[in-house]
Amino acid sequence: MTASIDRPALPYAPLPDRGLFPDRGLPHPALAAGDPELAALITAEERLQADTLRLIPSENYVSSAVLEATGTVLTNKYSEGYPGRRYYEGQQNIDPVETLAVDRAKAVFGAEHANVQPYSGSPANLAVYLAFAEPGDAVMGMALPMGGHLTHGWGVSATGAWFRGVQYGVRADTGLIDFDQVRDIARRERPKIIFCGGTAVPRTIDFAAFAEIAREVDAVLVADIAHIAGLVAGGAHPSPFPHADVVSTTTHKTLRGPRGAMLLSRASHAKPLDKAVFPGLQGGPHNHTTAAIAVALREAAQPSFRDYAHAVVANAKALAAALLDRGFDLVSGGTDNHLILMDLTPTEVPGKVAAKALDRAGIVVNHNTVPYDPRKPFDPSGIRIGTPALTSRGLGTEHMPLVADWIDRGVTAARSGDEDALAAVREEVTDLMAAHPAPGLSLAR
Ligand SMILES: *Cc1c(COP(=O)(O)O)cnc(C)c1O
Repeated sequence: MTASIDRPALPYAPLPDRGLFPDRGLPHPALAAGDPELAALITAEERLQADTLRLIPSENYVSSAVLEATGTVLTNKYSEGYPGRRYYEGQQNIDPVETLAVDRAKAVFGAEHANVQPYSGSPANLAVYLAFAEPGDAVMGMALPMGGHLTHGWGVSATGAWFRGVQYGVRADTGLIDFDQVRDIARRERPKIIFCGGTAVPRTIDFAAFAEIAREVDAVLVADIAHIAGLVAGGAHPSPFPHADVVSTTTHKTLRGPRGAMLLSRASHAKPLDKAVFPGLQGGPHNHTTAAIAVALREAAQPSFRDYAHAVVANAKALAAALLDRGFDLVSGGTDNHLILMDLTPTEVPGKVAAKALDRAGIVVNHNTVPYDPRKPFDPSGIRIGTPALTSRGLGTEHMPLVADWIDRGVTAARSGDEDALAAVREEVTDLMAAHPAPGLSLAR
């Protein structure tokens, strides 16, 4: 079949069997012909994702099926409204696509209602504000530097500018949420909405404890499970239902779908949420994304996804243990989920310096504040790592001591400026990655 494709001259040398669609002979034939500059960048990104150890806890590898769904003609359609209630004709195929996604979301998470249209996690959270609060109302969430998300009322976000954000944190001695503090703040400030969940929370979220406080002050409890949705779907983290009124989640982190989001809720909250997403906040839904969300949810309902979710947690626990063995300081002393927050203060290597050195060693992490960080947010004391992506590649607990070793060698090399040591780690990383091909990518070396 490759014979029928016009092969344009490439500005780069294609390796054999390279790219997402090796059976087509070229990785992205139409792109390579029409926009070689962009095709080269995408191919380079495929190579980078294949060759590196990706430890960013919010990243993953989607399946080829999810990837294909995102690149379809569904992107050509306008579908403002909801299935059966559209403002455009020609929805014969789109309505069932969205209905499939909604039904699968409800089944996977045990929710009475699902809205799969939010463009991403931040707009999904904005819709919650629009549904349940008025500008100026108090809203409560975990402070960003303690592990919360910008959209939980932090000052630089619209949610902190238009609402009165009040924030809770974690205890300095344990790194854990102090529910006495959460209750005190909630009683004093009477927030309309309470968010639980975050972006750098290495421990199980106690949804029941939050629900009790929210009930007492008559607040809407929103469980933002963006990071842990895949663990919840796979039974590796307790479900926010029946405790939370609303569950907000991205679809592209541990859930392993396309970049997008969902709002799940009890039936009684369905109307205000749907109205807030459309027409309150958004126009036409991204149907190609909706289709890919449906595919990801079908995958999440398979027994193999439970294995993946539990393996993510087992890997994170094994990696945390191996890092502790090597003397590293972990916020809260370890992890219950997919995420580890390393406080590098004792190593005297700032988080950003460590992250950049590890990147040169083929290990991709992000610098991150740690609770009560004495350093500035742009130059914080920690790095944040996680195991979803490496688990999707089939790495297991037996590999985690090696990963911890690489991190140790990388941080040590960052301190001494030893570029040769970083290059040596990079070679080892590339070799292991070659032995564990990434889903969605079929790059030959
Ligand atoms: C990632 C994340 C978001 C935002 O998602 P985007 O798609 O990046 O807008 C919101 N809340 C939490 C807890 C997150 O981890």
